[in-house]
Amino acid sequence: MVERFQKDCMYCAHTEKLDANYIEIESLHVATVYLARDQTHLGRVAVVLNWHVDEPFQLTDVERHEFYDDVAHAAEAVEKAVNPGKINYGTYGDTVSHLHVHVVPKKPGDSDWNDAFVNNPENPKKLTDSEYEDIINKIKENL
Ligand SMILES: [Zn+2]
Repeated sequence: MVERFQKDCMYCAHTEKLDANYIEIESLHVATVYLARDQTHLGRVAVVLNWHVDEPFQLTDVERHEFYDDVAHAAEAVEKAVNPGKINYGTYGDTVSHLHVHVVPKKPGDSDWNDAFVNNPENPKKLTDSEYEDIINKIKENL
């Protein structure tokens, strides 16, 4: 049985590391959507379950359905906001096991097209505060 809150988890404890890497956009039914500060892929967000589990199979059928509904809803909002052509979905959790899905807009010509997106690249693309605000507003309009 996994504890629903883990004090050492950046998502559970809302740590400085979380704030350094993500900006909270909005809570949905059972998950919260965060904009990645690295915008190498414009519009990239993480959809994070509102309590701690390590693996999707640790959710009930209803919880899992609700979580992936939130993921699909967030992905549709990102698609409408930035119109990338394709969305990739990344669930890794090697270093942060709290269930979350990276929603990554991709387009042909991206350096990692036809491959897994690079999380925490050597040269992350940071935006200005107003640019972050602009993309957050575009995604929020569609959530
Ligand atoms: Zn957690």
